[in-house]
Amino acid sequence: MIDPDNIKNSAVLQRLPSIDEILGTDELIKIGSEIGKAGSASFARTAVESLRRELQSEMASDDNGHEERSRAKLLARAIEKIRTNFLTERNSRLQKVINATGVIIHTNLGRAPLSDDAKDAVLREASGYCTLEYDIETGKRGRRGALAEKLLAEITGAESAVIVNNCAAAAFLVLKVFASGKEVIVSRGELVEIGGDFRVPDVLAQSGAILREVGTTNRTRLSDYRTAVNGDTGIILKVHPSNYKIIGFTEKPGIGELAELAHQKGIMLYEDAGSGAIFGLDDYGLNDESVIGRSISAGADIVSFSGDKLLGGPQAGLIVGRSDLIEQIRKHPLYRALRVDKLIYAALEATLYSYRRDTAFKDIPVLRMISASLENLTERTNAFAQQLHQGLNANADLKIEVAPGSSVVGGGAAPIVERATRLLTLVHRKLSAGELEHRLRSAEIPVITRIVDDKVLIDLRTVSEGEECELRDILMNIG
Ligand SMILES: *Cc1c(COP(=O)(O)O)cnc(C)c1O
Repeated sequence: MIDPDNIKNSAVLQRLPSIDEILGTDELIKIGSEIGKAGSASFARTAVESLRRELQSEMASDDNGHEERSRAKLLARAIEKIRTNFLTERNSRLQKVINATGVIIHTNLGRAPLSDDAKDAVLREASGYCTLEYDIETGKRGRRGALAEKLLAEITGAESAVIVNNCAAAAFLVLKVFASGKEVIVSRGELVEIGGDFRVPDVLAQSGAILREVGTTNRTRLSDYRTAVNGDTGIILKVHPSNYKIIGFTEKPGIGELAELAHQKGIMLYEDAGSGAIFGLDDYGLNDESVIGRSISAGADIVSFSGDKLLGGPQAGLIVGRSDLIEQIRKHPLYRALRVDKLIYAALEATLYSYRRDTAFKDIPVLRMISASLENLTERTNAFAQQLHQGLNANADLKIEVAPGSSVVGGGAAPIVERATRLLTLVHRKLSAGELEHRLRSAEIPVITRIVDDKVLIDLRTVSEGEECELRDILMNIG
C-alpha cells in the first residue's frame, strides 16, 4: 500500500540542495576562498547530511509545515549550518589570546610566553634554512643543539647538558638509560601526579625500572634510603612535588646528603626538578623551587627540568649533569626519537643568552611578571581604569573598579605560590558575569578572565604593556 505521507516526505527530501548548488552560493565562495574547494565541499556534505536527518525526524513527529521546507529555505538552512561549523572550526585553531587570569605559567594557555629575542630567533634565524647541523667554520656537518647545551651547562654549573622534547620525556629517557631492569628508590612523599598524565610510578614502570618506595607520605629519612639500597639499585630519584605541598610534621633529606649516600653506594642521584629555577626566587615567594645550580653543586649526578616553566622558554626537557652520563643519554636510540627541532633550539638559545648576559629579569616575560612589584601593578591598573573611565560614557553598562587580589605563579611550576596584585573588577548592567566572560572570550583577540563573586576579574600582571591597547579597545566595545 502506498503511504501518502511517505510520498510527501520523499518529495521534501528531494528538495535538499545539491553540493554543487551550495558551493555556487556567494557565502560558500567566500568560505572556499579561505579554506579551499575540498574543505568547503566537506563542510557542505556534513551540513546536507545533518539537514537530511533533521528533516526525517521533523517529518516523523509532525506532518505539517511541508511548505516551510521549500528549496530556498532548505538551502538557507544548509548554509547556516555551514557557517556555524566553519566558525567553530576557525575558533578552534591555535590563536593568540590575552591572558588576563593572573596565572603566570598557565599550562592551558601555552605556559611561558617567549622573550622578544626568542621570538626573533625563531622567525629570523630558524624558520628557513639554518645551521641546525652545519658548522659554518668548517663547512661540514655540525652537532644539533651544541650551543644551547653549552649555555645550559654554563648557567647551571653542570659539566654537560642534553635537550629533549619536554620534562616528561627527559625523566623517561634518564630512567630508561640508567635504571631499566633496576630498582629506583623514591620517597612515598614524591610519588606525584603532575597534570593528569605524568605519574611518577607509571613513568618508572614504562621505562622498565622497578619502583622501590621508601618512607611515608610526610616523613622520609636518609636512613630509609640507606636501608633500601641493594645490589639491584640503579638510581636514587628525587622528584619535586611541583603541584602540592606537605606541611606540618615533615622531614626529608637534602640533595647533598642523598648524593653522598648514592656515591658511597656506587649508584647515581637523579633529580626531576620539574620547574626548576636558574637562580633563587625566594624574594618572590618561590622558596620551594629547586635551583638547578644548587642541586648540581650539592652532588646530583643528573637534574632535569622544563624549558617552559620558570625558565621562561619554549617547551623542552633540559637534562644537565655529569658529562659521561649525558653522553650515554645522547647515544641512546630513544634520544633520536625525543630530540627537538630547530625552532625550539632557536628560542632556547636566545632565552639562555638572556641568563648568561644577566638580563633575564628584563628580557624574559615569566620572570618580569613574577617580579613585577605591587606598586608598579597598582600604578598600571589605576592608569588603565582611568583610561577606561574616560573612554566610557558616564552611563555605560560596564562598571569598572580596582580591587586588591592575588596572582598565582601556576601551571606545573608553583600553583600554590601567590603574589599580591591589583585587579580590575568588571560588572555589566545587562550581562551576567558568565555572559560577560563569554563575550570577552569571543572577542577578536580572545581575552581569558576569571570570575569571582559574580564579578569578572582582570589581572594586568599577565597582560603585557603592548597588549593593553588591544584590551582597552575590546572593553570599550563591550561597554
Ligand atoms: C612539570 C613537571 C614534569 C613534566 O614536565 P613537562 O615539561 O610538562 O613534560 C615532570 N616532572 C615534574 C616534577 C614537573 O613539575
